[in-house]
Amino acid sequence: MLNASLKELAARLSAGKLSSVDLTGEFLKRIKALNPRLNAFITVDEAASLAEARAADALRAAGRATPLTGIPIAWKDIFCTRGWLTTCGSKILSNFVSPYDAHVVERLKAAGTVSLGKTNMDEFAMGSSNETSFYGPVKNPWDERAVPGGSSGGSAAAVAARLAPAATGTDTGGSIRQPAALCGISGIKPTYGVVSRYGMIAFASSLDQGGPMAKSAEDLAWLLNAMAGFDQRDSTSLNREPEDDGRDLERPLTGLRIGLPREYFAEGLAADVAKAVDVAIAECRKLGATTVEVSLPKTRLSVPAYYVLAPAEASSNLARFDGVRYGYRAPRYSDLMDMYRKTRAEGFGAEVKRRILIGTYVLSHGYYDAYYLQAQKLRRLIADDFRKAFEACDVIMGPTSPTTAFNLGERTADPVQMYLSDIYTIAVNLAGLPGMSIPCGFGDKGRPVGLQIVGNYFAEAKMLNVAHRYQKATDWHLRLPPNI
Ligand code: GLN
Repeated sequence: MLNASLKELAARLSAGKLSSVDLTGEFLKRIKALNPRLNAFITVDEAASLAEARAADALRAAGRATPLTGIPIAWKDIFCTRGWLTTCGSKILSNFVSPYDAHVVERLKAAGTVSLGKTNMDEFAMGSSNETSFYGPVKNPWDERAVPGGSSGGSAAAVAARLAPAATGTDTGGSIRQPAALCGISGIKPTYGVVSRYGMIAFASSLDQGGPMAKSAEDLAWLLNAMAGFDQRDSTSLNREPEDDGRDLERPLTGLRIGLPREYFAEGLAADVAKAVDVAIAECRKLGATTVEVSLPKTRLSVPAYYVLAPAEASSNLARFDGVRYGYRAPRYSDLMDMYRKTRAEGFGAEVKRRILIGTYVLSHGYYDAYYLQAQKLRRLIADDFRKAFEACDVIMGPTSPTTAFNLGERTADPVQMYLSDIYTIAVNLAGLPGMSIPCGFGDKGRPVGLQIVGNYFAEAKMLNVAHRYQKATDWHLRLPPNI
C-alpha cells in the first residue's frame, strides 16, 4: 500500500476495493504518527479532508469519477486553497485563510483529488533547506539530522515518508528538483508557462513554475496531465493544444542521445554523488541510449545572475504584504508609515529581508545597468548554451545537487554556500526549460542521490519516458526510509 502507484490506487478505487475515505484516513493516520517528528505539514484538517473524501466517494458512486477521483494530495503551502490557511511559510501570512483556489488546485480538485493538508516550505520559497520557514525546519525522513532540501521540503519529506501519495511543489531555482533529490523521490518542473501561476504566491514571476512531486515518473505524468493547461488569469500561461505527457512512457530508449555537460561533472561535485550518477548513466546506456559530452560554459554564472534577477522580482512581488488588507499586522504603531515598517520588520524573516534589500538595490537608479541589465544579458547567454547543447542531444543528464542532504544548521551561517546547492538546477529556470529529478542511489552517508534530466522546451513526455524506463529497470524509487 505504501508503495502503490497512482495507477494502482485508481484501479482499487474504481474496482470498489477501496474507498477514498479509507485511503485518506490511512494517510491522515500516518501524518498524525509521523508529522510531529518530521514537521512536513503546516496545516492538517482531518474533518475537511474526510469531507472531501466522502464527496469523492459520492461522485464515484454516481458514476462521475475520473481516474484521480478520491486520491489524496498534499499542497505546498504556497498554493492558495479555499478555506485553508495558506501561509507560504511566513509569519506575515500566518493568519491568511485563502478565499480562492489556485488554478492548479482548481484543476486537481476538478479531477477529484482530496486535500491532505498544506506542506511546510522555506519562507516565500526562498531557501534550499527548509530552514527559513517560520514554522521550523522539516526533517529528512532518511536521516532526521539532515535537511530535506528546499524550498518544497515539506512536500518532498511527506512523499518520501509516505505521508501522502503525491504532492505539489514549485520551482524557481530548483525547489522541486533539489528536495526531490535529497529525499529520494521524483519531481518535475515543467516548461515555463505550462502550469498556471494563478493563486501560486509569487516569488520571482519570470522563473516560478509549479509541478508535481511523487514516487515515480508514471505518477508525475498522471499529475502533470491534470495540472497543466491554459489559464487566462496568468499572462504567461501558454495557450497550447493539451497533450498527454504520459504518451511515450513505454517507448524504448534505443537511439536516445543523452548529453552530459562537462561543467556538471567538474570541481564541486561530491564523489559519492558522481559515482551514483555515473552508474545511473551506464544503466541508461544498457537500455539503449548513447551519451555525448556537451558544454554549458555559463553554468558558473547562473547562480550570480539568479541572485540578481530573483531578488529583483521578489522585492516587487513582496511589496503587497503591508498589513493593510490581509495577513499579519503589527499590533502597535504610531501612523501608517510606522504600521508598514513594523508589520514588515516583524512579519518577514531574515532571508526574505536579505532578498528584498538585494532586489531593491539592484533595481535602484545607477545600479540597474550595472547589475540587473547585466544579469538579463547573462540569462540570454545561458539559454543559448542550452540551445547549442540540444543540437547534439535529446536530453541532458547529470546530478541534481552537488551533494546529498547536508545536516540541519550546516549551511545556515553562510548564504553563498547555501545558494550553491542549486548550481545544477538554476540555469534551467533561467532558460525556462523543463527539468526533473529521480532517485538513483545513495551516497556515503546512506542519503539519497538524485539524477537530473533536462529536456528541450515542451519535452516533458520525453523526459518522463526516460525516467520511467529507468525506473522499470531499477528500484531506487521504491526504497523506503528505514524508520518510517
Ligand atoms: N534555493 C533557491 C532560492 O533560494 C531556489 C528556491 C526555489 O526554487 N523556490 O531562491
